[in-house]
Amino acid sequence: MAAKRDYYEVLGVEKNASADQIKKAYRALAIKYHPDKNPGDKEAEEKFKEATEAYSVLSDPDKRAKYDRFGAAGLGDNPGPDFSRGFGDINDFLRDIFGSAFGGGFSGFGFDNGPQERVFRGKDIRVHTKLTLAEVATGATKDISIERYSPCGSCGGKGAKSSSDIKICPACKGTGSYKRVVPSFLGQSVEYSTCQQCNGIGKVVSKPCPDCGGSGLVRKRETVKVNIPAGVEDGMQLRVSGGGNAGRNNGVNGDLLVVIDVEDSEEFIRKGNDLYSTKIISVPDAMLGCELEVKLLNGSTQKVKVEPGTQSGTVITLRGKGLPSLNSYGCGNLYVKIAVWVPKHLSHESKKLAESLRNNPDFNPSPNKEDKSFFDRLKNLFD
Ligand SMILES: [Zn+2]
Ligand SMILES: [Zn+2]
Repeated sequence: MAAKRDYYEVLGVEKNASADQIKKAYRALAIKYHPDKNPGDKEAEEKFKEATEAYSVLSDPDKRAKYDRFGAAGLGDNPGPDFSRGFGDINDFLRDIFGSAFGGGFSGFGFDNGPQERVFRGKDIRVHTKLTLAEVATGATKDISIERYSPCGSCGGKGAKSSSDIKICPACKGTGSYKRVVPSFLGQSVEYSTCQQCNGIGKVVSKPCPDCGGSGLVRKRETVKVNIPAGVEDGMQLRVSGGGNAGRNNGVNGDLLVVIDVEDSEEFIRKGNDLYSTKIISVPDAMLGCELEVKLLNGSTQKVKVEPGTQSGTVITLRGKGLPSLNSYGCGNLYVKIAVWVPKHLSHESKKLAESLRNNPDFNPSPNKEDKSFFDRLKNLFD
């Protein structure tokens, strides 16, 4: 696919254009390239779509800010309106923006070429799935149980077992909508409203399929396997294209949206791709140095050396032992904070030992320069 043109360039406006200027620019292009004025002209249709996409982004302050900062990459795959159902929805979109001044609506694209089948899209389904931090590290495959509409097996989604039981809707004559010709500045414009008799499908069923009641859809509980990539974050939403409800009249499926809930871990705190944990050591271990077994997210352990004279609050960095990044290579770090545990209850013997240490000049607090800058750095680390 060719690279997208800059949205500002598409609309022919400056980067700092006001909302009003953007709207005016789009209006002019929408009128010029609207499919109703350019029947069968693929280039005009593309130009219309391009302008509509640009407008839908630049007219939304949130999307526009993202676009200004990150370009098209900041907006995901489908930043513009959905054209998959033809231009019927786009006319609603135009009417929303420009009101009835836009001629009371354009006709649906291609409607006047005679009755045609509309494609219905099923509704999206949103579910939550829980992930442990360990699963975030490796990625996971989840079996997600959902209830969704699927085409009825008995009638093949048609709503009746025999095709002779399906008739063209007498109310709308199969168009799925009523037509009204209204004057507009484009000349004459045709307005449509959805036929209530057939819900816009254009067909009615005289002898409904007993298994789906004529709707062509049945609700089923199904298990869907969803692959969740490593490095996802709490609240993220994954889209499984076509995993939602089936559309009426053998239309297209909606999507399945999987919201990630990352469970809190007792051991680790997550910040981005980095992990933080705490390790408690004794006073003698801090004074004399020791070797620790540090637990990693995957359940294994790693030996870590604690230097003699280690202060409480010292942070040991285990490079690459954090979480993988979702969009790039490499892993975050695991930061292990050392906490020195001071005993609360001392035996007579320990007390005497401690008292003798108290008078020993080695135990006078005298942090050197290195220690001080180290304590300063610590202040910021866990904020
Ligand atoms: Zn009808
Ligand atoms: Zn059926």
